[in-house]
Amino acid sequence: MSKLIMIKYGELSTKKGNRGFFINTLYKNIKNKLTGLEVNITKDRARMYIEFKDDDLDEIKSRIDKVFGIQEYDIVYSCDSNVDSINEEVLKLIKNIDFNTFKINVKRSDKSFEINSQDMNRVIATHIFKNTEGLKVDVHNPDLMVNVEIREKKSFIYFNKYHGLGGYPVGTQSKSLLMLSGGIDSPVAGYLAMKRGIAVDCVYFEAIPHTSLNAREKVISLANKLLDYTDKINVHIINFTEIQESIYKNCKDEYVITIMRRMMYRIMERLCSKYKALAIINGESIGQVASQTLESMNCINSTINTPVIRPVACMDKLEIIDIARKIDTYDISILPYEDCCTIFVPRHPAIKPSIDVCIEEEKKFNYEELIDKCIDNLNTIKLDKKEEKFEDLL
Ligand code: ATP
Ligand code: MG
Repeated sequence: MSKLIMIKYGELSTKKGNRGFFINTLYKNIKNKLTGLEVNITKDRARMYIEFKDDDLDEIKSRIDKVFGIQEYDIVYSCDSNVDSINEEVLKLIKNIDFNTFKINVKRSDKSFEINSQDMNRVIATHIFKNTEGLKVDVHNPDLMVNVEIREKKSFIYFNKYHGLGGYPVGTQSKSLLMLSGGIDSPVAGYLAMKRGIAVDCVYFEAIPHTSLNAREKVISLANKLLDYTDKINVHIINFTEIQESIYKNCKDEYVITIMRRMMYRIMERLCSKYKALAIINGESIGQVASQTLESMNCINSTINTPVIRPVACMDKLEIIDIARKIDTYDISILPYEDCCTIFVPRHPAIKPSIDVCIEEEKKFNYEELIDKCIDNLNTIKLDKKEEKFEDLL
């Protein structure tokens, strides 16, 4: 008998043609996650198995709890796929467990196995009754669920099921760029995008000296939280000061936010082609602020052709906060450092901005030149699995 972690793939197993690619990506991601631990990982078309040292179990669980593409995992005991071995193994295992009622739950994925699942449930229960005293079957609310999965080469016995994160393995979709501010919404947007398999790099717009290095540090900490779900993230930092000051100096008050966001989008599109990223991801949520009415989104989006994915567009703030708490970004996001979007907020921002007015206003300064400068001078911080201190990154 050996003890293993058995991983069930979940949604990816419906991807017929791409199945191999999905499984290989998941395998690579799990392997990366478990770097430094003594494990042996094997895979087939339906399951992945991890051999591990007992002392490492909690650490391994905490790491695979953050890998997308796992629907469920179980701590299993394997034995040969024949009735005697299974019976014997079940008996041996339950002797160490304190319970009164049980249910046997056989799943026979090897259809050539001589006994069907229903009959095998009875065979195992009978064997338990014969060799123990005082135990009862309770099919509705058993103290102990004895799961038995009969596969071709081996069978697996387990008692508890653990939920995985679901989603697709990160890297099964192409890279995209996440607009990461220090707020609550954009880290959640990044997390949800990664859950669909998208590999993300981040872009942060800062306006030093109007925004502080603390604000930058906060964004790096948020990116580090997202790093838990992948193996590396680049954070591109754009010095947005000159553009923001030019907008503020030249453009109508109620249009400054709209135009600022149009500039951000233009820069994002340029960065997408520079880094071969296929989409922009951000934390816009419909109706949340003036720049997120459908009219504003339309006006801002009209500057570019690259798809913009807004994972939290239709969520309530409280739903977004729930996820932010779950992924541990909330407490960082609420730290009170200024963001470039909050420093020049006009009293009455346009909630139905006109594209024509934007175009007229944008003629008042040479933004193309400033955008070129932003791109030429960007600063990239590379994050990989090590939790690096911010000071080390400067
Ligand atoms: P968040 O809570 O994510 O900051 P928000 O509700 O404050 O969002 P906005 O400030 O309008 O909304 O920004 C909308 C989205 O634009 C953000 O979710 C983020 O994706 C992007 N964004 C805003 N400011 C920045 C910035 N300084 N750098 C990078 N992206 C930004
Ligand atoms: Mg914000």
